Amino acid sequence: MNAVLVTGGAGFIGSHYVKSLLRSDTTARVTVLDALTYAGHVKNLGEAFLDPRLTFVHGSILDTAVVDQVMASHTHVVHFAAESHVDRSLAGEALFAETNVLGTQILVNAASRHPIQRFVHVSTDEVYGPLPDGTATEDDPLRPTVPYAATKAASDLIALSAYRTYGLPVCVTRSSNNFGPAQHPEKIIPLFITRLLRGEPVTLHGRGEHVRNWLHVSDHCAGIDLVLRAGTPGEVYNIGGGTDLTSRELTGELLRLCGADWNAIQYIPDRRANDIRYSMAWDKIAQLGYEPRRDFHEALADTVQWYRHHHRRWTPPPRACAVTPPHVILDAT
Ligand code: NAD
Repeated sequence: MNAVLVTGGAGFIGSHYVKSLLRSDTTARVTVLDALTYAGHVKNLGEAFLDPRLTFVHGSILDTAVVDQVMASHTHVVHFAAESHVDRSLAGEALFAETNVLGTQILVNAASRHPIQRFVHVSTDEVYGPLPDGTATEDDPLRPTVPYAATKAASDLIALSAYRTYGLPVCVTRSSNNFGPAQHPEKIIPLFITRLLRGEPVTLHGRGEHVRNWLHVSDHCAGIDLVLRAGTPGEVYNIGGGTDLTSRELTGELLRLCGADWNAIQYIPDRRANDIRYSMAWDKIAQLGYEPRRDFHEALADTVQWYRHHHRRWTPPPRACAVTPPHVILDAT
């Protein structure tokens, strides 16, 4: 594997993936294509940003000319770029449809015109919709409830259609909820950590009974890399194996780790379509050799420590970086 295009590589999961790829594969050349929305920041890439094997292109997956130009010199694609926050999707459906659906269509169209050896489309367990009981396998119907999940489901189908129509060697991965260092503080774990560390209250939806499976970002990245190297084109792989917790249980863990108590909790009415539970079987990717490694409690404690030690990263919110190394192409548009 020598030339990997990573869309959304300045975001939370994408930046972890880029760093682990550069560490583990000394032959890899990586291009990050990222629009640097509020959710992306080059600081997420750390020292990898200055690695001569990394090229950073500041541009949008919605820009067909840029996408086509960048795609031409790559053999592999890992597509993370998306609008990713459910709450924002309830107020900004059009942006989600544009980025997640149209953006994926533009990418697979461009990839189909070039000799791409593998295209991994990164998706989510939320596309299966709520499962009060049981577990979803890759063949289950998609029943997304919120606009974010609906646009991800649409993009999964667009990616798979490029395999069937044009023979683009696409794999789709669907992961459960991720956590780890440098996640944007709008997501529940970093939101609670950063507020609790500042001594501020946090809010819990409904009675805190919603169940999510929590997977450390490094395990998700390992699963994606496995699919990139060994996945069968046209196939979907669930990436699960994290820890199932209700939001109340998760809150209890975070209160303990942040040195706070239940007085910090304010209960608020549940939001619209807050799915009660997600659950996925991940036997299929296990057959490729995937096995999550991080212990949840240890990894959550490490995450709290990361936020303790990186105050400036999350208060105030990060702004665009002014440093421009020579191999960085800024404003490709
Ligand atoms: P994120 O919001 O942290 O990062 C998204 C990145 O995409 C940002 O760097 C942003 O600048 C970039 N981006 C947005 N619009 C763009 C555009 N038009 N062109 C180029 N770049 C653009 O998201 P994340 O949590 O890292 O999630 C990455 C992917 O993984 C998403 O596709 C998401 O649906 C999926 N996913 C996330 C989770 C999770 O728990 N966070 C779980 C399963 C799947």
